[in-house]
Amino acid sequence: MDAPTDMLRTPTGGKPSLYARHQKVYPKLAHGRFRQLKWLVMAVTLMIYYVTPWLRWDRGEAFPDQAVLIDIPARRFYFFFIEIWPQQIYLLAGLLIFAALVLFLVTSVAGRVWCGYTCPQTVWTDLFVMIERVFEGDRSERIRRDRGPLTLDKLWRKTTKHAVWLLVAMGTGGAWIFYFVDAPTLLNRLFSFEASTPAYVFAGLFTLTTYVLGGFAREQVCTYMCPWPRIQAGLQDEHSLLVTYRAWRGETRAPYAKGADWSGRGHCIDCGNCVTVCPQGIDIRDGQQLPCIGCALCIDACDSVMDKVGLPRGLVAYDTLENLSSKATGAAARIRLIRPRTLLYGGLLLFVAGLMAVALATASKLDVTVLHDRNPLFVALTDGGTRNGYTLKIVNRTHDTRHLALSLEDLPDATLTIVGDDSHENLIVARSDDLRSVRVFVTLPRERHARERHEFTFALTDHDSGLTSRVDAVFNGPGQ
Ligand code: SF4
Ligand code: SF4
Repeated sequence: MDAPTDMLRTPTGGKPSLYARHQKVYPKLAHGRFRQLKWLVMAVTLMIYYVTPWLRWDRGEAFPDQAVLIDIPARRFYFFFIEIWPQQIYLLAGLLIFAALVLFLVTSVAGRVWCGYTCPQTVWTDLFVMIERVFEGDRSERIRRDRGPLTLDKLWRKTTKHAVWLLVAMGTGGAWIFYFVDAPTLLNRLFSFEASTPAYVFAGLFTLTTYVLGGFAREQVCTYMCPWPRIQAGLQDEHSLLVTYRAWRGETRAPYAKGADWSGRGHCIDCGNCVTVCPQGIDIRDGQQLPCIGCALCIDACDSVMDKVGLPRGLVAYDTLENLSSKATGAAARIRLIRPRTLLYGGLLLFVAGLMAVALATASKLDVTVLHDRNPLFVALTDGGTRNGYTLKIVNRTHDTRHLALSLEDLPDATLTIVGDDSHENLIVARSDDLRSVRVFVTLPRERHARERHEFTFALTDHDSGLTSRVDAVFNGPGQ
């Protein structure tokens, strides 16, 4: 029973600590095509995030003109020409499933490109490190300054960096709340201190999280906090394109002296450049690791080294695990993009996209539901007839008031009465963007088998468009 405890002891006999002190990562600026691509993706994603709440979309006078708005008080989600009501939450669910399937497909084809290029944590960390470089220099300068004594120069650089970080974090937190309230109005209120307390609280909360996650937590978010690295491992296989070190070419690694012979050694000159540029502080030569976000900056770093020593690029490159092992045995490399996994994800993606398109195209602007009275189920009238009560719920999703004529189908000789309708015209006025509840009675005379159960339909015909919405209902009699 003592064996496991003994196995946990360090060589010197002491108990090892389960706590490892965090080593700060000082990523060096990489130069190359993937760094350029990351700058571009950063610019585009940040622009989309900051600009979107300011885009306008005309929906008529009584409706918000913000193109993308999550209007919680009105329980409405506006996305350009799409307007989603709480009853249509399935569309949002479909959108999330669609996004997840895109992520599954992309991950199975090219590994963690989401993590390496577009994840908000990656984008904002990259932005914060860029600001850090502006004020504190590149890797070696930052390390030297951090290890050195506190000087006036160090103080102003660090203070200014934190001030700019905070400004970016405030802009980020502020922009997020603009998605929930009309952006120009909220901006004015924020600066004139007339905004609601929740607006200040949430802006402050998002400012703080951006500042902490982008400025301090950085790679630890990807390694320890995010569940996605654990999930994505199950989406990749030996044919997925990953950032890899081609050990078959690089080993045996050794330092290189200019003009030296390459025979009997690998192409890796053990310069460590792939490690120093890594925002996760890891060594790609150790193989696939959970903290690797697939940003490909180590490819850029190594390609620059290969250019300098006059060797072909691609010692660190996008490749598959299958190719790594087959190249090691001299077999030809090949890329298999079409395989059961990608076909499955692609097929599901098309299926969900099709469902979403149909659901959006056929989404009715007038929703009618009918609730039959539960107690009593029917009322037996003294003349032998039977009466049933119903509540019609009418949602008018158009931006105009609708005048609807209510009638019955497939229930001959039945009488329809709208409670409170003294004109007896069976006309219902459904105001724009509103839910209307209407109580109705349906009565069958004795000679129409009023004691039996009948299936029939409520029909609502729009006076202006002539279109009819129908909803099925059941008439209950005492003898059914
Ligand atoms: S190992 Fe390479 S791809 Fe992975 S995080 Fe580091 S630099 Fe990016
Ligand atoms: S950058 Fe390339 S050559 Fe330098 S250590 Fe990394 S893999 Fe080896």
